[in-house]
Amino acid sequence: MKLTAPPHRGRSSASPSLSQTTAPGFLNPNQQKVIAATGARSTSRANQSIYHLRCGLCSHDYGCNGLDIKGRLCPSCQSGVPGEPLRERGPMLDFSS
Ligand SMILES: [Zn+2]
Repeated sequence: MKLTAPPHRGRSSASPSLSQTTAPGFLNPNQQKVIAATGARSTSRANQSIYHLRCGLCSHDYGCNGLDIKGRLCPSCQSGVPGEPLRERGPMLDFSS
């Protein structure tokens, strides 16, 4: 895993109109971190897809649509609403042969 410090570009004090709340690595004010986009369609909001989020406090993994990331609360330890389903990539993990 490579961690390169991004060059800080124009740190204005004004709130950015386009914040990358769906970018992997984004941490919202509630310590909920974006792990990856799953590409699955959100079940709670039209035209949104589900992102894999992880709680920074209890490491709970869950799904969240793109619109709700910035204010998301952990469904496990912060009484947030239940997460959306995280789908595994393939159903072929049950049998190891
Ligand atoms: Zn949590």
